[in-house]
Amino acid sequence: MELSARRKEIQQRAREFTEKVFFPMELELEETDILTRDQHQKIREEVRNYKLNAINHPENVGGQGYNIYEQCLVNEEIGKSTGGLWNHVWQPPLCLREATELQKKTYLVPACAGEMFIPYSISEPTAGSDAGGVKTTAVLDGDEWVINGEKMFASGCERADVILLHTIVDGDPNKPTVLIVDPNLPGFEIVKLPKFMTTGGRGHPNVRYTNVRVPRDRVLGEIGQGFELTKDWFVEARTAIGARCVGVASRALALATSYAKERQQFGRPIFDFQGIEFMLADMAAQTMAGKCMVYRVAEEIDAGLDRTIAHARVSAVKYFCSEMAGGVVDQALQIFGGRGYMRENAIERLYRDVRAERIWEGTSEIQKVIIGRQLRKRGPEIFSELM
Ligand SMILES: Cc1cc2nc3c(=O)[nH]c(=O)nc-3n(C[C@H](O)[C@H](O)[C@H](O)COP(=O)(O)OP(=O)(O)OC[C@H]3O[C@@H](n4cnc5c(N)ncnc54)[C@H](O)[C@@H]3O)c2cc1C
Repeated sequence: MELSARRKEIQQRAREFTEKVFFPMELELEETDILTRDQHQKIREEVRNYKLNAINHPENVGGQGYNIYEQCLVNEEIGKSTGGLWNHVWQPPLCLREATELQKKTYLVPACAGEMFIPYSISEPTAGSDAGGVKTTAVLDGDEWVINGEKMFASGCERADVILLHTIVDGDPNKPTVLIVDPNLPGFEIVKLPKFMTTGGRGHPNVRYTNVRVPRDRVLGEIGQGFELTKDWFVEARTAIGARCVGVASRALALATSYAKERQQFGRPIFDFQGIEFMLADMAAQTMAGKCMVYRVAEEIDAGLDRTIAHARVSAVKYFCSEMAGGVVDQALQIFGGRGYMRENAIERLYRDVRAERIWEGTSEIQKVIIGRQLRKRGPEIFSELM
């Protein structure tokens, strides 16, 4: 797979951005656990300078208009950074494409420009993998929706401008509906800001909605279309995770390879011990396999792969790459010995950061449920054949 001049340029631009803007911030973020206002400002400016804002939206709303392959090139590079910094290269929720023209002007255009931050909140204390168990209700009262419920893992909702909130209308699970909610409204409450393995300069709070009233026209898409809106999102988000995980594995492999060459024990570089060499060989092969999967499936999606097959293949990508990166970083940490266990070492941070990739946007088990279901329904060819 030779990269075209356009693809090479995108890759180089994203790589330079990551190395020049993110890498120098990593240690300070590790110390403080929070980005300063100046750091936020610098990231925002540089994301715009490097033209990496809203890579997942078309140019007519202020995005870069990148296809999935091109998005993967960017996500792989920014995924190499630690502390969840990649998350600050904003990619507004894909489902905003379903917004009305007025909603696009009000929310999507400013979000693509980085002037508005819009997280998506679906998980609840009793609805995790089973998103069908969402209980947050929206009931129409005159010209307003009245919202009641609790959300968990509501990433970024503590600093959101508006929130895409997954609700069920009239308490009916058959009417899953996304509402655009202003968190400054009365009745919105951050109940708890728990600490996580990595915060990445943003929180994942528990949030309560008590009789929050939003205007009737704040429905995104149609009433009952909530899950339909997330389907395309999953294809994009899971491919992005695959690409980020390849970035993590590549950085871990590069760091471990050069360390193994320079670290001397028993009078020779540790690379000379076959135990270390075999670990590196394994890491190289695993990284390569993940990379092949990501870019093959990205190319297929861009070429118009059937949506159901794309969904199945992307689950395989997300499952394999997130598990693969976890394993590669674990081996890299082993090669670094005690130094790999130190927070000042990027390997230690990657080890913590990459763990979440096996959990969010559908756990590894849920990806296997999807793969298994498709194997049963359509046969092994949809995974084993080139299409
Ligand atoms: C840092 C972080 C940020 C997050 N950000 C967001 C966000 O912004 N918005 C949002 O809506 N959510 C967010 N989430 C939530 C995330 O999507 C959920 O954690 C995830 O979907 C799993 O749900 P759960 O944690 O409730 O686990 P559960 O669903 O309770 O699962 C527990 C275990 O059971 C397994 N399991 C469940 N069902 C099955 C099954 N059918 N077969 C086999 N095994 C099964 C799971 O794989 C897991 O191992 C975030 C989570 C984290 C950790």
